[in-house]
Amino acid sequence: MQHRRLYLLGIGEIKANYYRPLSGEARAITVKREGTKWWLSVQCVNVPTMPLVPTCCEVGIDLGVKNQVATSEGEIKKGEHFGFKAQSKLASARRKLGTKQRGSNRRRRQVEVVVRHHLKVKNQRRNAAHQLSRQLVNEYDFIALENLTIVNMVRAPKGKPDPEREGSYLPNGAAKKAGLNRSIHDAGWGQLVSLLSYKAESAGRTVVSVNPRFTSQTCAECHYVDAGNRVNQEDFRCLKCGHCDYADINAARNILRAGRALQASACAD
Ligand SMILES: [Zn+2]
Repeated sequence: MQHRRLYLLGIGEIKANYYRPLSGEARAITVKREGTKWWLSVQCVNVPTMPLVPTCCEVGIDLGVKNQVATSEGEIKKGEHFGFKAQSKLASARRKLGTKQRGSNRRRRQVEVVVRHHLKVKNQRRNAAHQLSRQLVNEYDFIALENLTIVNMVRAPKGKPDPEREGSYLPNGAAKKAGLNRSIHDAGWGQLVSLLSYKAESAGRTVVSVNPRFTSQTCAECHYVDAGNRVNQEDFRCLKCGHCDYADINAARNILRAGRALQASACAD
């Protein structure tokens, strides 16, 4: 860590700790406060890329709630549910906050404790996403994953109007869906994808996102599509050829195949 001074317009000179050397040309500075700490992020342009040596390996990735990541190579990386683990600590910190008198110093300090719990979970998630994306970019030249915006569309609950009562809707499992969305958030999907994309770009790797439609119902061996192939949440058994696998790994293999096809058609154009 380097101690240096930085000049901010309108504020003047401030002391700052540099966590890493700047590369490229600095364009914009953002100042952010997290709890009692202040962070500066410097946006740079023309940052030199650092291409990695090709590994000649390709991978398809299924992003799930239960297993954070399943790969076409048959690897399952369990997602850590940091938010879930921190819940009881956070709840007790919140309870303590309730006992403090409004406007008191003790209350102010307890507010900081609550904020620190939140920040810890946030940092743990970010750290895990950084490590996983780095590992994937180091190991593979070509990474295929599901297009998350399409996934979200597929999963958005639709309201069915109740024929008996005008203007009201039948139960559609929206509350259950909200629970699922929370788990998705806990798994830190979006963050993983964005970290993966920028690391891949800098390393000269290719990331393609494919339409996730049918990737969980298609047999990776014989390409037979049937909703009945999916025995349950975990297992896949093809009704035609009898191929058995973990459902997420089977899906990851389909995602890789779809990614390759997409890449081939892009090259042909
Ligand atoms: Zn099959």
